[in-house]
Amino acid sequence: MSSIEFTPLGGAREVGANSYLLRMGGLDIVLDSGLHPKKEGVGALPEFSLLRKAPDAAIITHSHIDHCGSLPHLLQIFPSVVPYATPATLRIMDRMLHNSVSVMGILKKERHIDDYPLYQHSDVEYAVGKSYGIEVGQEFAISSESELCAVFSPAGHVLGSASVRLNANGRSVFYTADICAVDQELMAGFEYPDRPETIDTLIIESTYGANEGADSVSYAEEIERFGASMATVLEGGGCVLVPSFALGRAQEILNVIARLQEEGVVPHVTVYASGLGRAVYEIYDRFRDQLRPGAELSPLSQFKKVGDVWNPEVARKLLREPCIVVATSGMMIQNTPSAAIAQEMVKEPCHGIFFVGYCDPDTVGHQVKTCSPGDSLQFMLGAAPVEVRLDNIQSYHFSAHAPRMALQRVIERIKPDRVVFVHGDPDAVDWMYENTANGALKYMSAIGETLAL
Ligand SMILES: [Zn+2]
Ligand SMILES: [Zn+2]
Repeated sequence: MSSIEFTPLGGAREVGANSYLLRMGGLDIVLDSGLHPKKEGVGALPEFSLLRKAPDAAIITHSHIDHCGSLPHLLQIFPSVVPYATPATLRIMDRMLHNSVSVMGILKKERHIDDYPLYQHSDVEYAVGKSYGIEVGQEFAISSESELCAVFSPAGHVLGSASVRLNANGRSVFYTADICAVDQELMAGFEYPDRPETIDTLIIESTYGANEGADSVSYAEEIERFGASMATVLEGGGCVLVPSFALGRAQEILNVIARLQEEGVVPHVTVYASGLGRAVYEIYDRFRDQLRPGAELSPLSQFKKVGDVWNPEVARKLLREPCIVVATSGMMIQNTPSAAIAQEMVKEPCHGIFFVGYCDPDTVGHQVKTCSPGDSLQFMLGAAPVEVRLDNIQSYHFSAHAPRMALQRVIERIKPDRVVFVHGDPDAVDWMYENTANGALKYMSAIGETLAL
């Protein structure tokens, strides 16, 4: 049997700058090329210095920044690399990467991070322009000199997201990337590739490996709780802020709210959506045929623009009438629209802030989740802290990642000979390693540590 080598460049025992070098069929393939969400400057890049020669290709599974955010930089170093992604991923990636250049420009000024931006708009144009858009189910070869073929299958995570299977010389590797096992409001769940039993090596994400609670969350019950709490705040004359990631969560939540309004659960107040979430929404609309069968995507025109909320007067005006605001960032990072709106919102006890995703411990979102009324928090860089008078702060579990029991079922169904656990905090990867894939050869490796598979 021919050998395969696997080396994490990032995202081994962490959800970081997810990127893996796979050497198979005589080719070097980079699987994903992300930026670390919690690190800054060049420290956020994968360890590209581990690449001793130009990779033959880069396969991008989806357009979250922790999976595609360093692709323009990779192509700066190795201009010959050919990237592959689904057509929807390419469209969203283009939008997300240009936004990254702008955000890095702002951070350079605000936080004096000298090595930002890590790439320019022209580098994004080069990377996206050089990429091939390949539909799911369509097998593609990377080089005429190699037997290696790849094929995408639906990952169910966000629009365009895919898992990828690579076949060469009698070996078959399947990289799940980020997967969601169940249907969401807009996305249909993960699908197995053809003949899963012929996969010999599985590379699987481990995000929820340490989260026992996620196994028992019912999506339908969570939506019911979300709708009921939202109605209470609005009927009491308050507004609801839903801090949300721009790709995936924002589009899903806007459509959940539209449906709950349609069903009469949530009052018909104005719903606002912020910038990047709107831009991605347009791409969801363009690729609406790839959404879950039966999913009804509300027209974007139904959701109003939030406007220049960095002007406190605009934010105050927004909150005069009961309304719902879905705004980035999901973790309420300082100086983002959700932080600017929250800064005004927390001054009044009648409003509600509903988190629908994870907040890192060093974000304002985490401080808001854990604060008590009377505490003061700083929402905007350079601004004075504001006293929190609102106590209706809720958290909902609307993840686009499979809980660990679902990951376990994927392993059991595929029954691979070898399983490599990636993309999870150490305790998550450890739980997966210890409790799943019995009978298979199991691997977890560190950044720069090559596995011979
Ligand atoms: Zn993702
Ligand atoms: Zn991810």
